[in-house]
Amino acid sequence: MLHYPNNDIPEGREDMKVAVDFDGVLNSYTTPWEAPHKIPDPPVPGAIEWLNSLPADWEVYVFTTRAQSVDGIMAVRRWLKRYGYWKAPWTIVTQQKLAAHVYIDDRGYRFTGDNFPTAATIKALERWGHQSAPSALQEKEGVITP
Ligand SMILES: [Mg+2]
Repeated sequence: MLHYPNNDIPEGREDMKVAVDFDGVLNSYTTPWEAPHKIPDPPVPGAIEWLNSLPADWEVYVFTTRAQSVDGIMAVRRWLKRYGYWKAPWTIVTQQKLAAHVYIDDRGYRFTGDNFPTAATIKALERWGHQSAPSALQEKEGVITP
């Protein structure tokens, strides 16, 4: 019998695949970007506890532009291990959009069939924790940082 750390598995959804963004969701990412393998910041409060609370047989993918290099992939795995994610050594770290039941991202917009965002809506979307201080570059160009 499978062991579930919690008992809130929706019926018929025992094999969930969850894709989680790294910077801004797991990593607090308060230090400006330097390189894919440089991750100086601690987790967002509760992030590791949340990862560890997911059922053991669910697949968790971490998606991040840091995965553009092997050094970046290994750095993310080391960071997950350092902060206590028990599945860190087996966690898929990718910059591809792999099949998943849900994508958890601090830059996401939920499409519900007919709500294509206008340009103004897109420009108004901001990461949590950055609502009052978008970077000058983001304001000027709408450039997305990792
Ligand atoms: Mg992010």
